[in-house]
Parts: sequence; structure tokens; C-alpha cells
Amino acid sequence: MADKSFLNEVNRRRTFAIISHPDAGKTTLTEKLLLYGGAIRLAGSVKARRAQKHAVSDWMEIEKQRGISVTSSVLQFEYNNYCVNILDTPGHQDFSEDTYRTLMAADSAVMVIDCAKGVEPQTKKLFEVCRMRGIPIFTFINKLDRAGKHPFELMEEIEKVLGIQSYPMNWPIGTDGDFKGVFDRQKHQIEVFHEKNHGQSIVESTVSDVSDPAFKDLLGESYHNQLMEEIELLDMAGDDYDLNKILKGELTPVFFGSAMTTFGVKPFLEYFLSTTNPPSGRMSNHGEISPENDNFTGFVFKIQANMNPAHRDRIAFIRICSGEFEKGMEVNHVRVNKKVRLSQPQQFLAQDRVVVEKAYPGDIIGVHDPGIFNIGDTLCQDGSKTEYEGIPMFASEHFAKVYAKDSMKRKQFLKGVTQLAEEGAIQVYRQLYIGTEELIIGVVGVLQFEVLEFRLQNEYGVEIKMQQLPYKHVRWVEMKDFDPDTFKTTTDTLIVEDDNEKPVLLFQNEWSIQRVAERNPDAVLKEISVH
Ligand code: GDP
Repeated sequence: MADKSFLNEVNRRRTFAIISHPDAGKTTLTEKLLLYGGAIRLAGSVKARRAQKHAVSDWMEIEKQRGISVTSSVLQFEYNNYCVNILDTPGHQDFSEDTYRTLMAADSAVMVIDCAKGVEPQTKKLFEVCRMRGIPIFTFINKLDRAGKHPFELMEEIEKVLGIQSYPMNWPIGTDGDFKGVFDRQKHQIEVFHEKNHGQSIVESTVSDVSDPAFKDLLGESYHNQLMEEIELLDMAGDDYDLNKILKGELTPVFFGSAMTTFGVKPFLEYFLSTTNPPSGRMSNHGEISPENDNFTGFVFKIQANMNPAHRDRIAFIRICSGEFEKGMEVNHVRVNKKVRLSQPQQFLAQDRVVVEKAYPGDIIGVHDPGIFNIGDTLCQDGSKTEYEGIPMFASEHFAKVYAKDSMKRKQFLKGVTQLAEEGAIQVYRQLYIGTEELIIGVVGVLQFEVLEFRLQNEYGVEIKMQQLPYKHVRWVEMKDFDPDTFKTTTDTLIVEDDNEKPVLLFQNEWSIQRVAERNPDAVLKEISVH
């Protein structure tokens, strides 16, 4: 039986990712959360990363970026006796499959939306992954200090574009650039926005009951009337608050605020931490494993290469799913059926990497990987051969034909490409009836092509030629008796197979996807493939 202090450690863990489109304010919100957590005073590490955002993407820069984004890959801090793990989901040019995979290690998500822009494409993509997992999603609509869309319009967008019900926890007053504050729907109070509060420190807001005549004076007659009308409309026509639905990811609680001015961040954080779930059970080949299970288990969700350019050093990021982790522990690497010792486990506390002595379900540790781990590998303490469900392959969006300049180097070329595919940096497809001289490489973010070129040259001594292809979409075909010769495609569709010899279609546009689906009613075309 698990002891009480272990259970307490599990139950106080909150492990989540922040999802957003670039520039919606994810970095700013993260900084502010850390500020509350007291993890860092001036949010230095997150700032450092921000400075890198517009860096030129030559390899040195990539290296630097990697170095920094690793220290901020997972941030841990304490708040009100919660132990909070924030998983970073890289955006901008380092957006890659890692961004999606990170969501496989999170127990819930915070979705940041820019009030002027509404739901943007990258938010939608990341949201889809969260929905696939059924994790709770908490929404923070940001930049209320500036003019934005009407809150009703934003609610409608969330429901229409993302297809999730929403429940505004608060309601903004003055969204045309004259922001006055928010009405808290549960406490029936107004929290007044003070413009001068520019976010380096925590400032208390003025809070009082909505019927307080002082508010009428403060807001002015017309704002006050408008607020009363909107609240009535919300109460009548809006979705009901339903905790069950929130925890299943069917309804998202929505907060309006302004990360930059720290307005609304604290109530959001406190509500989020007390509402969202601690680590829960995860499916494996032995059914669902509870985090409270004594047997230590975890899975690799990310592999970070070249942490130290002097060695071929990789770090495997492991999400702990059950049991207590202790430094130096010997565990079974289930896929290869070997024992490995986790001797230099690291954890990432804001700016610093520290060696961890103990860690619990919900925590992420990074262990040195001498090239033995693949994405999705399970580690488990006892001999049960537990294996967690695989991490899916997400749809690449950029494709290129790649081959070694010097055909004598084909072997190294294949070795390098295989290695990089194992790390999850690229996806490899083969054209039918064509040998392995020429491969099609798919990536989620274009920066990965540069990484591929550089690493093949530097680590494997292979110069490559790369020819970008016009495909933009990939679909895995699920069909009984798939036959490439009789399968009906459009002229601009290419049939290839992935690493596991599963049939895959590459499309240039959405229209072709639809046509092919219509022409092959027995086929299911999938955007995500689970190995
Ligand atoms: P990220 O790309 O999602 O991490 O976005 P950042 O946190 O870097 O923010 C993008 C830009 O929006 C920066 O210039 C921020 O200063 C600005 N920003 C973030 N939050 C707010 C806010 O609440 N109000 C205003 N006016 N600007 C904000």
C-alpha cells in the first residue's frame, strides 16, 4: 500500500501545458505564474527565451535555442501547497512534433487567446490534440487592456471553431479599449482594473459587490447597464457550469484578463489549481495504471539531442506515471527488455537544471540517453513489462525529397535518418517501388529541415540534397486489403509508406483529401497515427 506522504505528493501535483498561437501571450502568462509561485523574481529564464525568438536559424542559433528551451522545457514551482509543473510547448519557428508530444505528458491545458485575434490556427491544432486526449482545458482570454473583439463573439468562436462548450467565469467591462475590469460570476463581485499596474509585482485589485452604488459611479451608467444586461443574457442563454464536463474536456471555463498587467492572473491560477485534476490513471497493455500504484512507471515523450555539442549527448524526458522515483534507481526498459540505471536524473526548476533525488507521478525528469531510448518507451520498476499506449505520429506539414549527394555514403545517410526519426525529429516516408536512395521526409516545423541537414553533415558526415515537395497534408490510410494499384487517388496525390510500412497519402490541398475520401468509401483517412 502506498503511504500517506506519497499519496499527498501525488495529489498536490498539477502538470499542464500552455497552448496558444504565437504572440497571444503564453510567455507573459508563464512569467506571471512563476512570479506568483516565487520561482523566480524577474522571470529571467523565460525572458531569455523570448530574446531568442527572432534569432536567425543557423545551427549555432538552433543550439542556443535548444539550450534555453530545454531549461524552460519544464518549469516546476510551488504555490499554496500545490506542486506545479508547466510543460513548455515551443511555438514560432521551433514549432515541431515535440510541441504536440509534450501534450501527451500533460494532465490538463491552459489555452491562451488574444482577445483581438480570437481563435488562431496554431491554437486550434494544439487544441485538437488536447481534445483527442480528453484532458481539461482552461481558457485565458488575454490582452483585455487593449481593444478586442466583443466577448460574445469570442465565446461563439470558441464554440464554433473549436467545438467546445464554454463557461465564462468572469465577464469583462469595456472591451473597446476602455477596460474597466471584470465581473466575477461566482462571487458576484467586480474586480477593477488599474492601468498603472505594470506587472513586475503583484498588486491587489479593488473588489466589491456588484450592487455597490460606488460601482455605478465608477463604471458610469452606460457600462453598468450594459454589464447588467450581459450578465442576464449569459445566465439565461449560456451553458451551465458543470465540473464533470470540465474535467472531461467537454466544457472550458473562460477567464478574461491581461497577463502583461497581471490583471486576472491570480484568480485564474487559484481556480485552475483547485479545479483541475491531479495525475490520473493512464492506459497500458495491463489496463489503466493508477498513479498511486507502488511500482514506478514512466514513459519517454521527448528526446532532446545535442545538449552538449562535445558529445552526442541526448536527454530523454520521462513523464512519471506511477510510483516514487529515486535517484540511481534501476528500471526495466521494457521494449528492449534490459535493465537501466537512472543515475543522473535532472529536473528543471525555472532557470537551473538540478539533479533530483526523488520525484513523483506528474513530474518530468530528464535522463542521459546514450542512444537507447525511443519516443514512447516505457520504463518500469518491477518485472510486469508494463507498456503505455504509444505516442502518436502527428501529421507533418512540410515535405521534401532527400538523398545523399555522394551515393557512397548511403549507409551513413540511412543510419542518420533512422536515428533522427527515432528521436522524433523527422518522419520518414518511402515511395513505393523506389529504393531507399531517395526518401521523403516530413516535418511539422520547417526548422526541422535545417536541423536535419546540419546534423547529417556534422554527426554522420553526409551532405544531402533536398528538394521541397508541394505536399501539405498527410493522412494514414486504414483499410482492409489496401492495394496501391487499385486505390483511387487524384493526380496530385502521392501514395507512400511510413517507417512501419503503413500506407500513407500525401496531399497538396484539402480538396484532394475530400475527393479521395469520397472515391474510397471503405478507407478511413487519419490525421494522427498511433504505432
Ligand atoms: P507568446 O508568443 O504567446 O509567448 O507571447 P508573448 O508573451 O511573448 O507576448 C507577445 C506580445 O504581446 C508581447 O509584446 C507582450 O508584451 C504582449 N502582451 C502579452 N500579454 C499582454 C497583455 O495582457 N496586454 C497587452 N497589451 N500586451 C500583452
